[in-house]
This record gives sequence, structure tokens and C-alpha cells, in this order.
Amino acid sequence: MPLPRVVLYIWAFALGTAVGSFLNVCIYRLPRDRSVVSPPSHCPQCGVRLRAIELIPLVSFVALGRKCRSCGGAIGWRYFAVELITGLVFLGAWEACGRGIQVLPCWIFASVIIAVVFTDLDHMIIPDSLVIAGVMAAVMSEGLAVLLGQASLLSVTIPGTEVHLPRVVAGGVVGLVVFVLIRAFSQLLFRREGMGLGDVKLAGAIGAMLGPGLALLSFGLAIAAGAALGVALLVLRVRRRMEYLPFGPFLAGAALVALLAPESIRATSSSLYLGWLSLFPV
Ligand SMILES: [Zn+2]
Repeated sequence: MPLPRVVLYIWAFALGTAVGSFLNVCIYRLPRDRSVVSPPSHCPQCGVRLRAIELIPLVSFVALGRKCRSCGGAIGWRYFAVELITGLVFLGAWEACGRGIQVLPCWIFASVIIAVVFTDLDHMIIPDSLVIAGVMAAVMSEGLAVLLGQASLLSVTIPGTEVHLPRVVAGGVVGLVVFVLIRAFSQLLFRREGMGLGDVKLAGAIGAMLGPGLALLSFGLAIAAGAALGVALLVLRVRRRMEYLPFGPFLAGAALVALLAPESIRATSSSLYLGWLSLFPV
């Protein structure tokens, strides 16, 4: 008898919160060039090593009253939020990416995306190790599709030619090319580095995972969201014109939306496109 659905949902969510707990370690240590496996989890303020009972995702945070048992130092809400977000995203991916083995690369990719958002917000860095993990998830996704007999979905023909490429390659190339061009253009326009190399590499990984079509839609969404927030911050005078707004979180966030809700992103973009066309009646 198949397990009741709710048990699987709880399992996917709980696994996500545990991975989120590990992502908290990655977000803190990767930009500092420290190992994510050793030393074991400890309080960043007094260095006391955490016991197993203090490492239960979500629960320990609440049970400890947001404080270290040893030094009483406050534990940031960030830790709780990352665990909760990862749990919910794992649950969403379980629905969106299929409930079989195919969900595994989706979970890895989504975890990479969550870590990218917070490391870029904190340090304006997208660690290469995260980008590499994202590309590996994409290759794994493609490999699984081949094994499961869905490979025919994955061949992309370059428009105007007879050349076929695996989706992971075509998507990766599209991501890299689009963002190399955007980076060069913004350097010409603003005469300074408007977009980091980390964003370009991340776009390559996103393209590899989503494939060229969906990746382009997610890039459009990221640019629209980034521009909207940038203008809003200018209007509200929160930021001055030339202050740098990291683009990685927008790129990553839009990729996550595309991964979890590909149909809604396709529908939204096509309705926007049609709306735009109707401004120019023939
Ligand atoms: Zn402490």
C-alpha cells in the first residue's frame, strides 16, 4: 500500500528543514573560505559545540528561546527562516518536479539557490562551489531524464540550423552569453562594473538546469523585479542612484519560481507579451 500522501509531505518538509540547517552553515562559512564539515556546529559567539538535541531544525531554535545555552548570545531569526524556507521549497519541489527520483536534482538546485540568495545579500559574493553544485544538479537532472526515457524532451535545435544540443548545454550557453552581453553593455553604459562575474556564472548554471526557454523567461522576471525594486528604492530615497544592488538574489529567486511553477511563469510572460502586442493594432 502506498504511504499516505501526508506522510510523504511531512517527510519532504522535514528533510528540507534539515538541509536548511546545513545551508545555514554553508551561508556562514563558504564566503569566509571555511570548511562546511569541520569543525562541527558551534555557537559563533562563544564557540561551544552544539549537542545533537540543539541541532533539530526549527524545534531547537524555539526550544532554546533564541539563545545559546552557554553564553546566552542571541541566535538570529535568519537561521529559523532559512530552515523554514528550505522545508517549504522542498515540499513545493516534491509537487513540481515529480515525486520520484527526479526530485533529487531539483532539491539540490533549490538548495544552491537558497544559499546563493543569502550569501550574495550578506557578502555580495556567489561562491564558485555553489555554482558548481548547481551545474552538477543540472547534469544529474539531464542524466536521470535520459535513464527514465524522457531524453527526447531534452534536445534543443539551434534556430536556423540543423544542430541539436543537449538541453543542459544549450541552456548553459544561453545563460552565459546573455549575461556576458548584459555585463559588457552595463560596463559601457555606466563605465563601471554593473554586474559581477558571479552573476554570469550563476546564469550559466540556471540555464543548464532550466533549459534555454524557461531560463530566458526567468531572466526576464529577474530583470523586471530588480528594476522595479531599484526604481522603488530610488523613489523612496532609500538608496542613491549609484549604490549597488546585488542582482544575484533576483536571478536566484526568479530561477526558483521558474523551477517550482514553470507553467505560471510561462502563462504570465505570454499574457504580458500579448498585452504588449495589443498596444500596436495592425
Ligand atoms: Zn554561545
